[in-house]
Amino acid sequence: MFIAIQNLGCSKNQVDGERILSLFTYNGHEITEDFSTADIIIVNTCAFIKEAQEEAIAAILDMGEIRKTGRCRTLIVSGCFSQRYRDKINNEFPEVDIWAGVEDWEQVLSSLLQKPSGEKSSFKRALSEPLSTQYIKIAEGCSHSCSFCVIPSIRGKFKSRSTDEILQEAQWLYDQGTRELILVAQDTSFYGRDKGTNLAALLETLLLRTRFPWIRMMYLHPQLVNNDLLKLIASEERLCSYFDIPLQHVSDPILTAMNRLPLSKGLYSLVDQIRSEVRDATLRSSFILGFPGETEKHFNELKQFIMYARFDKMGVFPFSPEEGTKAYSMRPRPRIATTQRRCDELMSIQQDISRGLLEAKIGSAQQIIIDRVSDDHDFNYEGRTMADAPEVDGRVFIQDGSFELGQILTAKIIGASDYDLYAEVF
Ligand code: SF4
Repeated sequence: MFIAIQNLGCSKNQVDGERILSLFTYNGHEITEDFSTADIIIVNTCAFIKEAQEEAIAAILDMGEIRKTGRCRTLIVSGCFSQRYRDKINNEFPEVDIWAGVEDWEQVLSSLLQKPSGEKSSFKRALSEPLSTQYIKIAEGCSHSCSFCVIPSIRGKFKSRSTDEILQEAQWLYDQGTRELILVAQDTSFYGRDKGTNLAALLETLLLRTRFPWIRMMYLHPQLVNNDLLKLIASEERLCSYFDIPLQHVSDPILTAMNRLPLSKGLYSLVDQIRSEVRDATLRSSFILGFPGETEKHFNELKQFIMYARFDKMGVFPFSPEEGTKAYSMRPRPRIATTQRRCDELMSIQQDISRGLLEAKIGSAQQIIIDRVSDDHDFNYEGRTMADAPEVDGRVFIQDGSFELGQILTAKIIGASDYDLYAEVF
């Protein structure tokens, strides 16, 4: 049979989707990117916020049309939207044959294939391009309880994968050509706390037992970035000095309503601690604006913090009231126009900060990984530095030369824009 998948949402969901596909290929089936010729279509969904749910519904309806007209005989919806809503709304989507929960794939496959899937290795995946950069999921779920977040109710409590399993998958990825390994989880810094180990120990194992030139972490929690981790990152060149720490806000009353720690004093000292321990640290963060109770005073505190912290990378999101969360019933909610104005104001401050920080890199030599041949005719390639994560951060445009995709090389930074760099390889 031909299987096609549409992966929505985050990198963790993408990894799940690749795993699902490998269960089918292990049983002799083939992957196609052409939905009209697929026998089985999987929509692997996200349900984190309203926009993601709307995107999931649109994708299900689109694939439902193909189910009616194309070769498809089975339409499967998987991922967080299925996990969260399948019992409530499955009657509203008669075109969907199977609603798979995040842990249901063995049964789904056995029912589809009329036999056990037989696939025992828990890590093989049908990898997405580029092979040179791959995510590895080190855990499932989250044990924090941020008042605005549905993830713990969908994915359950934090459950670490064993270090051996992660190492096996990492070594397999290296053999497939991966050179940049990106560790992901809802909170990577919580890794191992349910198994008597921790993230630093996992990193030391990966450094010792694999040959990845670049190892990056996404989604650290501000409460769990400690000195051991900082010292390890500062001492190991193969570890990207890249700190992706979603902080959500800085004003104490808002952080308290979000049920998040540390409070503002702790966040200021965390930024100082990272910058003092890790010389070339790159700080990425994201903030929620328009949370219930947020006033202009709270917003000004956040503006002050952004100007103090000078994040290298930053994202802002308007508050999305999610049913089933504590924040859903909180009031008053700032007007949508006010929230949008605050988001725009913060991003315009950040735009200047980002340009200033990137311009300071002009003339420096940086390691660059080549991601793709550039769509921009003025440049041959696009890549990233160790300070740029794929999909969310800026790119480096390279004018001349001929290189392999996934090649890591040293280049001189010759220019900068608000979010991107320009480089030449000498
Ligand atoms: S840490 Fe992240 S995933 Fe966990 S509850 Fe908070 S926002 Fe949600």
